[in-house]
Amino acid sequence: MKRTQILGVNIDCIRLGEAINILSRPRIKIFTPNPEILLESLNNRNYRDILNAGDLMLADGHGLLLLSSLLKLKSKLLRLIFLFPALILFLFTKRPYKTVIPEIIHGSDFMLVLISWAELTGKSVFFLGSYGDVAKNTAVYFKKIHPNLKLAGYSNSDPDDDAFAAVQHSGADILLAAYGAPKQEEFISKYFEQLPHLSVAMGVGGSFDFFSGHVKRAPALFHYLGLEWLWRLIIQPKKRGKRIFKALVVFPLKAIFFSK
Ligand code: UDP
Repeated sequence: MKRTQILGVNIDCIRLGEAINILSRPRIKIFTPNPEILLESLNNRNYRDILNAGDLMLADGHGLLLLSSLLKLKSKLLRLIFLFPALILFLFTKRPYKTVIPEIIHGSDFMLVLISWAELTGKSVFFLGSYGDVAKNTAVYFKKIHPNLKLAGYSNSDPDDDAFAAVQHSGADILLAAYGAPKQEEFISKYFEQLPHLSVAMGVGGSFDFFSGHVKRAPALFHYLGLEWLWRLIIQPKKRGKRIFKALVVFPLKAIFFSK
């Protein structure tokens, strides 16, 4: 499998079909690098190492597709010069001028695939993280649409030893950790070796919020246009405003200057 790097973090150059095949490998950690995660890793060396120990690294965002192609230019000045034209071209054609990462795989979309795969293969799933009833409601939602899904359990415990104990006790095959970045990857990294029953552990960010109905998902048109960020800004302006500025402005500039 081909890999590239943005800001020193591995990203798999992979399509959804190939990513699904990797699920049958023994014991994999799945992370979904997005601009926010990559920026965090720039200031946090330990976090970068945690990410780079991931087995499946899904590119979660159009910015990664665009930047991976721009980073083929070794000159930082040329990268900067071509950033704007590349962005315009990308907006019209929906693909960069040279393909490095063949497609975006959103974490929440891959979580859907993973759950269908779990139902098919008889693997049990543990829903961990978020607040209140979000993890429970996510489990209920998936049980409804996948009646044969084996539910190992759910917990809204903080990412600590209690959460670890709950997952350990459940004997789950698949762990979905929804603590956002960097907590979910740190949790998976810290406890994965002590959970030998896990065949897959994945950090799923805010996905539970969508599936539980806690937060409304972007309509299909926003998805198609690559404007999920705009949708999030509309529904959560306070929470998202600063993050979106970082993803759209700070991330491309840092990626251009600080990536090899
Ligand atoms: N979250 C949590 N504990 C924390 C921080 C976040 O359970 O200490 C949950 C939060 O409720 C949300 C999820 O982590 O369901 C992801 O949060 P965020 O919105 O930051 O992630 P994104 O959607 O950007 O991936």
